[in-house]
Amino acid sequence: MRGDFWYNKHMDFVIMKIILLILFFAFGAVLGSFACCQAWRFRYKELGKRTAGGKTIGKRSLCLSCGHQLSAVENIPVFSWLVQRGRCKKCGKKIGVAEILSEISLGLVFLGVGWLVWPEITAVGGVGWKQILSLCLILILVIVLTIMWILAVYDGKWGKLPTVLLVVLNIVAVIYAGVRAISLAMNGNFEMGLFLLELIGSIAILAGVYFLLYIISDEKLVGGGDWLLALPIAIILGHWWLALMVLFLSNFIASIYGIIQKIKTKSSKIYFGPFLIIAFVAVFFLKDWLMKLLW
Ligand SMILES: [Zn+2]
Repeated sequence: MRGDFWYNKHMDFVIMKIILLILFFAFGAVLGSFACCQAWRFRYKELGKRTAGGKTIGKRSLCLSCGHQLSAVENIPVFSWLVQRGRCKKCGKKIGVAEILSEISLGLVFLGVGWLVWPEITAVGGVGWKQILSLCLILILVIVLTIMWILAVYDGKWGKLPTVLLVVLNIVAVIYAGVRAISLAMNGNFEMGLFLLELIGSIAILAGVYFLLYIISDEKLVGGGDWLLALPIAIILGHWWLALMVLFLSNFIASIYGIIQKIKTKSSKIYFGPFLIIAFVAVFFLKDWLMKLLW
């Protein structure tokens, strides 16, 4: 009977894990939808516009063409977009691809976040300080990702990064680094000198390079906001090797995109924001594996 018991418990765990991952995907999709709305709000604020389709913009989501207020059913991430085939239910105007891309991509990234949460809440011997600190780091990561998604949508649509958001992101990143230091200390492998050295190396390689490109190219190659986005990424990763990977990967994706863009529209202007963010997400989730490559 022992085998049966093990089997049942194991199956319970598998089902629980699947439920957790589905919930995380849904949570990510909701935040992806929120990020897109926030990007539009920032845009309207910047332009000084208070109305859309003749209606005043309030807390509720509305169609930007006709001002139709979305009902709860029309506001379900991914699902509503697919059911309405990306159009407003009332006026039939296209909602845009950025919306569903933002929802699906952040949903998928949150699957990864769920993957990080799972071992912490099912830790052998119950949840202790170690797990609580890890969960704190994951919570901060959730905030970081949401802000990054607003920035990615904004940069992708209008080729700019709102300074307020960049400042908030930098503050959150510093908090992340602080909690990470405490977490390392609790696990008994914290050395102040080494931690700071790795952090400075990370900042120098990623934010430093973007800052230099910005200064040297006189904003032609790299925008002013890019180094302010590279800075929190460097602070969160906290290691020169991971920073180098982000630098390499973001430029690699941007180059491929740039070539396609040049063929399609003959324009060579690239906004680095979304690529930096994609590269950060990839490196963050692969960081344990990438660190093994180093030694
Ligand atoms: Zn409409």
